[in-house]
Amino acid sequence: MPDSAPYTGAAGSAGTLIIGNSQAGVQLASTLRELGDTEPIVLVGNEAHPPYQRPPLSKAFLKGDATAQSLAFRSDEFYREHSIEVVTGEHITSITRDAFGGEAISASGRRFPFARLALTTGAAPRKLPFAGSDLRGVGYLRDAADATRLLAELAAATNVAIVGGGFIGLEVAASARASGKNVTVFEAAPRLIGRAVSEETSAFYLGAHERRGITVVLNARVAGFVGDGGPDSQPGAVTGVRLDDGTIVPAEVVLIGVGVIPRTELAEQLGLAVDNGIVVDSQARASDGFTVAAGDCANMPNPSRADAGTDFGDGRLRLESVQNAVEQAKVAAATLLGLESTHHMVPWFWSDQADLKLQIAGLSGSHDRVIVRGNPHDEKFSVLYYRGEQLIAADCVNSPLDFMAVRNALNHDQSIPADLAADSTNSLKKVTTP
Ligand SMILES: Cc1cc2nc3c(=O)[nH]c(=O)nc-3n(C[C@H](O)[C@H](O)[C@H](O)COP(=O)(O)OP(=O)(O)OC[C@H]3O[C@@H](n4cnc5c(N)ncnc54)[C@H](O)[C@@H]3O)c2cc1C
Repeated sequence: MPDSAPYTGAAGSAGTLIIGNSQAGVQLASTLRELGDTEPIVLVGNEAHPPYQRPPLSKAFLKGDATAQSLAFRSDEFYREHSIEVVTGEHITSITRDAFGGEAISASGRRFPFARLALTTGAAPRKLPFAGSDLRGVGYLRDAADATRLLAELAAATNVAIVGGGFIGLEVAASARASGKNVTVFEAAPRLIGRAVSEETSAFYLGAHERRGITVVLNARVAGFVGDGGPDSQPGAVTGVRLDDGTIVPAEVVLIGVGVIPRTELAEQLGLAVDNGIVVDSQARASDGFTVAAGDCANMPNPSRADAGTDFGDGRLRLESVQNAVEQAKVAAATLLGLESTHHMVPWFWSDQADLKLQIAGLSGSHDRVIVRGNPHDEKFSVLYYRGEQLIAADCVNSPLDFMAVRNALNHDQSIPADLAADSTNSLKKVTTP
């Protein structure tokens, strides 16, 4: 860590500037205080709302059970008591820095001097360049503004199309279906959630969503969106999804969920290494050795010990999850204060779709076989991933005890013999071996 003496440039301020006030940013600020930091902390973000939780946007929010206010991470009192200055509605467009600090400037011209800098800028939806993408009713879901728009559009819609059968697409599909919409999911790949789960889990979700009345089109070839043509050559409202064979599937709302792109503009401007995210080391330190980055925007060494020694384990990852944002932000805070953290993390993730809770422990990238425990037809089962005899990950559907047992085993470098795990009358906790 460099000496974090106050910046002696024009602004001459001490303290930490955190750019991006969401999951990682809020955690980083809180951890700095927990670790005893007494310097000023400014948490700046470009959204209109004080920091709020994003995951419910595709779930409770779309059912009308939450608002950006009710999803706030912390109360105003918390930030006041901890002397964390939260700035909303300021988009940072440029930063200059050296080893001792620097200054960030927002689009409105506001200046934010700092001694230490953290980038927690997250990710933005990957855009599809299709004809008709600018029609009213075609959109993405990343923030509260998107969710507010989507909720209003859903209220007036009968037919809803989802482009992308990943987590966000399927969560929105389930929420829309629960409120009685005709929902069609278009997935370009041969299976759902293919980048994250096993074939068994994908097949289960296909059947489960179809049973709930959702139409799923796999290997779909979406070619664009058609609309009703607006007045004065303004784009009108969407009326359907056009497939490459010319078929038009009716839709008054189209939600596109085809992944996200890390927000690295500021890192690139600072000359930091960027490769599918801001490249950081295991201490969340970017390539200049001073700036830290955490959360969806950061690309880090694989933190999972279960993968050590494999190509996958020796590689780098960019995770998009609450748990990663929280854990990496804690490491980043310690680094800013010159403290070394041991960063062993078993990644975990959840997704709620209808009454199905999927919990994933570990990373399955290097597995060579799976065992299925329980019966998918009961909508309660787990898929355990093994590399040789070593348990490395699990997808658990409505099986929280399995999830906890696997997460615990991975956290303690333990395993669960596959033959014992396959017998669902065995408690995984009881058959865990050192
Ligand atoms: C609809 C939805 C559902 C989800 N569901 C789940 C779930 O069930 N489980 C799970 O584990 N994860 C889920 N996630 C993912 C999870 O929310 C993210 O992994 C998490 O929010 C990452 O936090 P972050 O702080 O790294 O980034 P973000 O939450 O993306 O926050 C980054 C913030 O920085 C701001 N920003 C960027 N650039 C600038 C700039 N130049 N100036 C000022 N501000 C800037 C952005 O506007 C944003 O507010 C979901 C995400 C979404 C969108």
